[in-house]
Amino acid sequence: MYVASAKEVITRKDHQCFSCLRKFEAPCPMVKWSGVYEGEWNSGYTCLTCEEIHQKITEDFNDGIPEGFVNECLERDQTPEEYLIDLETKIDERTT
Ligand SMILES: [Zn+2]
Repeated sequence: MYVASAKEVITRKDHQCFSCLRKFEAPCPMVKWSGVYEGEWNSGYTCLTCEEIHQKITEDFNDGIPEGFVNECLERDQTPEEYLIDLETKIDERTT
């Protein structure tokens, strides 16, 4: 998706994360975004972990971030939190 605006909110209902597809029970801090997804104006929620992952990898995306992106990146039994730590370690290795 192409995000036009995004802000951190405390959810009042349960929402599924756009990227890791986990369900987050309210109340919970999540990022509410609106923008264009698959040619349509859209909005949704991403969890804070996925938001950080997106910020580290968006430079490689020409078509925006697809739904379920982080979920697809995960190894078996890996959590998005573990994936983020992995990603940070790789970035550190590249810059040192
Ligand atoms: Zn997520």
